Amino acid sequence: MVCQNVQRIEERILQACQRSGRSREEIILLGASKYADAEKIRQAYQCGVKVFGESRAQDFLKKLELLKDLPIDWHFIGRLQTNKVKYIIDKVSLIHSVDRPNLAEEINKRAEKIQKVQDVLIEVNVGGEETKGGVSPEELKNLFEYCLNLKNIRVLGLMAIPPYEEDPEKVRPYFIKLRKLKEMLEKDYGIKLPHLSMGMSNDFEVAVEEGATILRIGSALFS
Ligand SMILES: *Cc1c(COP(=O)(O)O)cnc(C)c1O
Repeated sequence: MVCQNVQRIEERILQACQRSGRSREEIILLGASKYADAEKIRQAYQCGVKVFGESRAQDFLKKLELLKDLPIDWHFIGRLQTNKVKYIIDKVSLIHSVDRPNLAEEINKRAEKIQKVQDVLIEVNVGGEETKGGVSPEELKNLFEYCLNLKNIRVLGLMAIPPYEEDPEKVRPYFIKLRKLKEMLEKDYGIKLPHLSMGMSNDFEVAVEEGATILRIGSALFS
């Protein structure tokens, strides 16, 4: 079942790549595994998904223990409390959800302790939704500059969870907005930001068309 899902998702990614003149190799399919148990994650891994993103530190640690025989590339994609950073810092290659200075500072401090430079993305609240995490577009530059000054953090790009829309076309403007914000940072600071983490089960094809490099797919993969 999971393998069939992977296959279908892969076909749709490929078609979106062809439509938009992109290459499949530019895009990482991340299994958003918060609702999947370790067995489901194992199946998805065996079907070719090599990167997974967890949303809660405690669940992540439990699943990691059950899956430690697999060389999974783990990311953290959920809201992150500063007091949980120490549990995950040595276990994830990318944190997608940096959205405030004190979180960046804590990640920097914990990374320094283990002599690591932690790759992160800054999460932007592109829909201005109060219930969601993410820095506001207006505050993005401040947070980005703050991160630039932290030696054990490296910002690789931006992430967003746009408002849910039945019609994926309605999400397109938010994807465009995130891409433009990334381009603005690249231009203003003269650096390259390789990643745009955007696109979920309901809208990943549109995200591919708008430049996503990491698709975070949960329900379409695991259901
Ligand atoms: C759950 C989750 C996803 C996946 O959502 P689906 O709609 O199930 O694909 C993606 N990103 C984040 C941050 C999530 O928490």
